[in-house]
Amino acid sequence: HQRVFSGVQPTGNLHLGNYLGAIKRFVELQNHYECIYCVVDLHAITVWQEPKDLSRATREVTAAFIAAGIDPRAHIVFNQSQVAEHAELAWVFNCVARMGWLNRMTQFKEKAGKHKENASVGLFAYPNLMAADVLAYKATHVPVGEDQKQHLELARDIAQKFNMDYAERIAELGHGEQFFPLTEPLIAGPAKRVMSLRDGQKKMSKSDPSDYSRINLMDDADTISLKIRKAKTDPEPLPGEVAGLEGRPEAANLVGIYAGLADTDEQAVLAEFAGPFSRFKQALADLSVEKLSPITAEMRRLTAEPDQIDAILADGAERARAIARPILDDVKDVVGFVRST
Ligand code: ATP
Ligand code: MG
Repeated sequence: HQRVFSGVQPTGNLHLGNYLGAIKRFVELQNHYECIYCVVDLHAITVWQEPKDLSRATREVTAAFIAAGIDPRAHIVFNQSQVAEHAELAWVFNCVARMGWLNRMTQFKEKAGKHKENASVGLFAYPNLMAADVLAYKATHVPVGEDQKQHLELARDIAQKFNMDYAERIAELGHGEQFFPLTEPLIAGPAKRVMSLRDGQKKMSKSDPSDYSRINLMDDADTISLKIRKAKTDPEPLPGEVAGLEGRPEAANLVGIYAGLADTDEQAVLAEFAGPFSRFKQALADLSVEKLSPITAEMRRLTAEPDQIDAILADGAERARAIARPILDDVKDVVGFVRST
């Protein structure tokens, strides 16, 4: 049985990296899997969020999912805090995962910055909650951008340790050898790691203070064109071969973005645009506007009706809970928690 789970944090401006690395892939997977897509608000508060902004961003991510083409009736769309099973399972995983494992997570190091003592405990334990998100549904596949690869490896380690620690009990209760599946990440394509438009060494991110570092899904056509025109490049023209992008992160990034938007590969893009950057940047701006503006328009329409979005989230949460509840009951039995039946 093949089930997809993935999430996006309601932490601010959704950007092209979120779209190409995650949401666009979510849409494509609908034809092949049973899909559960979550607005992960519990993750969001691992760093401070203004309450009003959090609610607005939660509805905005939901709108982006739907505007991009996710069908909330055929699949499940909901926000994490409405399904308590995520937090419940995360606690169990806090007790399965080891401090040493979490100490190796690069996202914590990046997000906590210099003052690690000041980071929230939640930010440190973030990967355990992410493992719980996926495993509360026994999801088999998780589409994410490359930045989340390490967290998914940790989720596999957690699943494996749980399966081993409780092996006897799991067998006794008739769950066979593997209680939790070892989830496969789905990370592929030319835009699995979209970089900042200002710095080819940093990923495009919602939390980057510079708005010129990213293209937001809510940007209008003029802003998109301006940001692409201003995007950092080097003085060399575009090469004719992919090998020529070696050591040129900014150029490689823009070519990858084009390929992601056009559903092609870098080589095909270079075959068409080898030569001066100006012509390529103009084409990239046009393509970005062509692909994003229908989504932006639909997001604006949807966010104008917050009650309808809330109804979709409530319905999704109920259907998500119906899957997660029995799995959590089994977890409790495995662990030895006494519960009323
Ligand atoms: P934050 O800075 O708050 O962490 P974010 O931009 O990293 O925001 P997330 O909500 O953490 O966004 O991630 C949502 C999804 O988007 C994840 O699957 C993540 O891997 C993917 N993603 C995020 N940034 C990029 C990027 N630059 N390129 C490709 N995929 C990305
Ligand atoms: Mg992130």
